[in-house]
Amino acid sequence: MIILMFGPPGCGKGTQACEIVGLTKITAISTGDLLRGEMKAGTELGKKAQDIMNAGGLVGDGLVNDMLVSRISQADCRDGFLLDGYPRTAEQARFFDGVLARRGFPAPLVFHLDVPADVVVGRITARRQCPVCNRIYNALYQPPKVEGICDFDDGVLFTRKDDTEETVRERLRGYDRRTNPMIAHYRSGNYHKIDGTQAPERVFEEVTGILQGELVGQAR
Ligand code: AMP
Repeated sequence: MIILMFGPPGCGKGTQACEIVGLTKITAISTGDLLRGEMKAGTELGKKAQDIMNAGGLVGDGLVNDMLVSRISQADCRDGFLLDGYPRTAEQARFFDGVLARRGFPAPLVFHLDVPADVVVGRITARRQCPVCNRIYNALYQPPKVEGICDFDDGVLFTRKDDTEETVRERLRGYDRRTNPMIAHYRSGNYHKIDGTQAPERVFEEVTGILQGELVGQAR
């Protein structure tokens, strides 16, 4: 199964991705996390991406496409995978169609979490991430049990550099200009728009219902 998570930054894609992994055991890939990993490791790609990411822009399609292909070529993606943050442009979507077709993968199942801009800005500026498992918390709505510490591995939570209000607004402009129109590419397929302003548990109930339908369909 191939799952794509769409929605603006801060819509809860990362949180839902973690839950879906728990349920399906599918491998989840976040291109943002991959790029942050490259930055941390000081690779050429990381250096190229750093300034663009910190300013809230989009990294070039060619760089991201190559990185994605290399990641999904690993053994843990052989039976499928979930993507969070990719594709983000029409060019990436076209490229990804070709990759799926060449590798004989099925058409993707798409979850689009719909959240208005102002809600997103409030959420993102309160967002904290675990450096060990990449889980996302929210200081306001979804805090860890112990302030500043991951519930699962004791990682010390951090605030991402691109989670400031100014950068979030720039990321949202990029989303409206380039990612939102790209989603039209998937609407005629196995596409599900979900109200992402609901509590994460409620969103996951909807996601689970759809996933169970898919799994039953596959088993037939
Ligand atoms: P995210 O963690 O998905 O919010 O991504 C953080 C940042 O990484 C984005 O603001 C972009 O600068 C960059 N990025 C992640 N995925 C992509 C992509 N598919 N295409 C271009 N840039 C990306």
